[in-house]
Amino acid sequence: MKVRYSYLPQQFGNCPDLWSKLKKFVKSGDFTLGKPLLEFEKKFAKLIGTKYAIGVNSGTDAIKLSLKTLGIKHGDEVITAANTFVATVGAICELGAKPVFVDCDDSFCMDVNLVERKITKRTKAIVPVHFTGYMTNMIALNKIAKKHNLPVVEDACQSILASINNKNSGTWSDFGAFSLHPLKNINVWSDGGIIVTSNKKYYEKLKLLRNHGLIDRDNVEICGYNSRLDTFQAVVGNWLIPTAKKIANKRIQNANFYDQNLGKINGILIPPRIKNYKIVYHLYIVFAERRDELLKYCQKKGIEAKIHYPIPMYRQNAMKFLKHKIGDFPVSDYHAKNIISFPCDQHLSKKEMSHVVKCVREFYS
Ligand SMILES: *Cc1c(COP(=O)(O)O)cnc(C)c1O
Repeated sequence: MKVRYSYLPQQFGNCPDLWSKLKKFVKSGDFTLGKPLLEFEKKFAKLIGTKYAIGVNSGTDAIKLSLKTLGIKHGDEVITAANTFVATVGAICELGAKPVFVDCDDSFCMDVNLVERKITKRTKAIVPVHFTGYMTNMIALNKIAKKHNLPVVEDACQSILASINNKNSGTWSDFGAFSLHPLKNINVWSDGGIIVTSNKKYYEKLKLLRNHGLIDRDNVEICGYNSRLDTFQAVVGNWLIPTAKKIANKRIQNANFYDQNLGKINGILIPPRIKNYKIVYHLYIVFAERRDELLKYCQKKGIEAKIHYPIPMYRQNAMKFLKHKIGDFPVSDYHAKNIISFPCDQHLSKKEMSHVVKCVREFYS
């Protein structure tokens, strides 16, 4: 039995209602900063529970433009998580700033207890990453940020509709940066991203930054970027938004099934599930003994299990300039060696999940 990782053919293979919306849109020719984009931004802000949302061309740019709005520049230091996807770090580096890593804990997010010792005179922002659909402890992080007068940009790319005490990811700080990439929980047909903020000044600045700094057709107010969310993709986004909560809930349900069944297997350890945290399982990850052998075994049985990620960012060649030594971030290292991800998406069947559980049980018995 095959258990595929990508569910995109199931999600978009048969959607005549979306095609008819797209056809109508194409006839309108409203391709750049068009009406469906404004509609999508309004709906997204409402979904997340914030005032403003600004569509941009990727999750990476959502982080970059947020940092740019704060004036982050060459020589500044930006604190972020050591075990994130490259895009978080890429956004910081693109502005000439230096990423300063903080190790994670077993929630896969930044260990907030380690943040304060990383703050220097040059620190200008903190970018927590709500990795896997978990959430960074924003209550503790915001206290530190406030004490040191540092702005915070949440990398919420993997955590649409995750929350702590029912307050959604992306709304805990100055900016929330989301990705709409095909592999993310709310996904369009191309690259895409969206920033949320409740600060009107930031909102106005972001609108300029994403569109060449143009205040109108003829006047360029500041130097900006070409980073608009395609209106065509916003049509796809508008089609998805009504199902967003259902997608999150289905993933949570699937994860609960895995937790209950994989949790009984000697050799598998389920990460902590904190009570007042809603985890949306962009990735479903557990700790596994003899991980490499288990991965091979699952793949042989047709299960597209994966590792997110086998090499922590701080050990990548691109980060050599930071001069870290192996072992500087021991929890990230431990994770890279001991975690495994299984498909957990909303289109996965009970049969497929049972096959995963059966194979893992077989492996350890
Ligand atoms: C996907 C992702 C991004 C960037 O998203 P893109 O839309 O691919 O640019 C940033 N951070 C994290 C943690 C991500 O998973």
